[in-house]
Amino acid sequence: MHNNFAIAIHGGAGTLDPKTINSDQKKAYNDGLKVAIEAGYAVLKKGGNALEAVEIAVISLEDCPLFNAGRGSVFTHDQKVELDASIMDGFTGEAGAVASVSLIKNPVSLAKNIMVNSDHVLLSGVGAMEYAFKHGFKFESESYFHTDFRLEQLLVAKSQNRVTLDHNILIPKPIGTVGAVALDSSGKIAAATSTGGMTNKRFGRLGDTPIIGAGTWADHNCGVSCTGHGEFFIRNVVAYDIACLIKYKGLSIEEACSEVVFNKLAPIGGEGGLIAIDKQGVIHFSFNSVGMYRASYGDKTGLFTGIFRD
Ligand code: ASP
Repeated sequence: MHNNFAIAIHGGAGTLDPKTINSDQKKAYNDGLKVAIEAGYAVLKKGGNALEAVEIAVISLEDCPLFNAGRGSVFTHDQKVELDASIMDGFTGEAGAVASVSLIKNPVSLAKNIMVNSDHVLLSGVGAMEYAFKHGFKFESESYFHTDFRLEQLLVAKSQNRVTLDHNILIPKPIGTVGAVALDSSGKIAAATSTGGMTNKRFGRLGDTPIIGAGTWADHNCGVSCTGHGEFFIRNVVAYDIACLIKYKGLSIEEACSEVVFNKLAPIGGEGGLIAIDKQGVIHFSFNSVGMYRASYGDKTGLFTGIFRD
């Protein structure tokens, strides 16, 4: 069904075994998704723009310690938190991104500020943090970002000598990267994604999240936000590939997403998924993993939340 305005969000994709999540945890994740989607939807409902809606929804997910973005992010090998985020305005074609930043409460807002107020698209590390400081961004202490279950995950990943998607660690406290896509009532589309990356990643490693075209894309036809094993998403320029299949081949949003997620990524082991929205307000969720935390809210379709392939 088409929506006049709508928003979709994700909280990561991976091996989310229904047996490892009890009903309290399931409720907590669903509640976290609901708070975020309702915050984004409220912006659209009062006539706000898609860019603002995706930022607000992602901020809510960054602030929720259950999700791997902002507070509650996974640890690097050195037990540090390094955050990546990006945002794109499909109407203007402008984009902003940050990579490998620490202590920034809401990296998605820093990405947006870089888009709006600087001549650059992507700032990283110390340079990005200096920019944040100069623009009055809120810095938190290291302890704000640290959660015991992320430490547990790191210790397991280290003991297995693996770099993992956070939700693939066999600890019953999963959840991953976050993102949002939206269409507003004036027909503008936007997308945003934010993450702590992968557990046990090397210092300085970047995934697809801060790479425009890989983890995030928005134009006049669609908005896409990805989650999954970033190296595969970068090599396959996943978000932009979907936009190209729609623009140049005339595929529907569903056909384009399925082509990339199941025919391109899955055969080479690129585990993950994405959320997408088109200019008619059709929302599509696509994932080749066992599950993906996700929600949508459209003026015609109402509220939906989901975790597994249900
Ligand atoms: N795509 C993210 C990365 O590779 C991880 C995730 O989606 O959970 O950094």
